[in-house]
Amino acid sequence: MKGLWGHPTCINNVETWANVPAIMLYGADWFSRIGTSNSKGTKVFALAGKVKNTGLVEVPMGTSLREIIYDIGGGLIDGKQLKAVQTGGPSGGCIPFDKIDIPVDYDNLRSIGSMMGSGGMIVLDESDCIVSTTKFFLEFTKDESCGKCLPCREGTYRMLEILERITSGHGEMEDLDKLERLGNAIVKSSLCGLGMSAPNPVLSALKYFREEFEIHIKEKRCPTQRCTQLVTFTIIPEKCTGCTLCARRCPVSCIRGFNKKPHEIMQEYCIKCGECYNVCKFDAIEKI
Ligand code: SF4
Ligand code: SF4
Ligand code: SF4
Repeated sequence: MKGLWGHPTCINNVETWANVPAIMLYGADWFSRIGTSNSKGTKVFALAGKVKNTGLVEVPMGTSLREIIYDIGGGLIDGKQLKAVQTGGPSGGCIPFDKIDIPVDYDNLRSIGSMMGSGGMIVLDESDCIVSTTKFFLEFTKDESCGKCLPCREGTYRMLEILERITSGHGEMEDLDKLERLGNAIVKSSLCGLGMSAPNPVLSALKYFREEFEIHIKEKRCPTQRCTQLVTFTIIPEKCTGCTLCARRCPVSCIRGFNKKPHEIMQEYCIKCGECYNVCKFDAIEKI
C-alpha cells in the first residue's frame, strides 16, 4: 500500500491535526486533563438550526448540550421551546429535550442513540416536524449510498418510501414496526459506516417521538403543519376582502370568486403549495 506521492500517508481530518501541535508542546498528560474519561480534549461542533448564535463552537468534551445551546448558542430564536437536537450529521440521532443535560462525549451520545459523527448539531424547535426531519436526513443518506451492498442500497430506499407514505397521509400503524425492523437490519448488515448509521435519525425519532409518528398515521395530521400533504387550506369568508391576489397566484387556478366577494378554494384540485396562505394580507386563509 502506498499513499501520497508513493509515501506512507497519515490521513486525518483538520480538527485532529489541529490538536497535534498542542499535544507535542504541552504533552499527553496535559491534553488528557481536558474532557471525559474516554473522550479527551475538545470538540468542535457546527451549531445550526433554530438557535440564536450559529457557527462553529469548540468546547471541552463533557460539556452538556444545554450549555452549548443556551450559554454559547444564546438559546432558541424567538424564545421557542427546544424540541430536539440532532447531532452527528445526517446519520446522527434526534435527542429529546429531557436529555440535554447529558455530558457530550462519544460514549454518551452513542448510549442515547446518536453519535459525534461530523460534529453537526442542529437545534429543532417546537415548530419542527420530527417525521419530516427524519425523512430529510434519510433522503440525504439514501443518495449518498454507493450501492455496493443491498441492505444500505435498498433498505434506505424502502425506509424513505415508508416515511413518504406517513407524511402524505397513507401510513399505517404497522409501518412503524417495519421501519424499526428494517432500520435495525440495515445497521447490522451494511458493509460500511454509512449504512450502519443511516437509520439512526429514524430509529432515535421512533424511540423518543413515537407519538408524533402515530398522530400522522392515525389522525392523518401533522401537529406542526409542516407536512403539507396533511394540511388543508381554507378561506375564512368573514375575513376575505375579495382582493383576488390568492386566485391570481394559485399555480393550479383552484381558487374561485368574484372581485370584492369572498373567495373559495376548490379542495379537489389544491396541490397544497401554500402560496395563497403566504400571499394573503388579510389572514383570511386558514391552515389546518
Ligand atoms: S453501506 Fe457502505 S458499502 Fe454498503 S451501499 Fe452503503 S455506502 Fe455502499
Ligand atoms: S388573498 Fe386573502 S383576502 Fe384576497 S381574495 Fe384571497 S383569501 Fe381573500
Ligand atoms: S395551497 Fe396552493 S394550490 Fe392550494 S389553493 Fe392555495 S395556492 Fe392554490
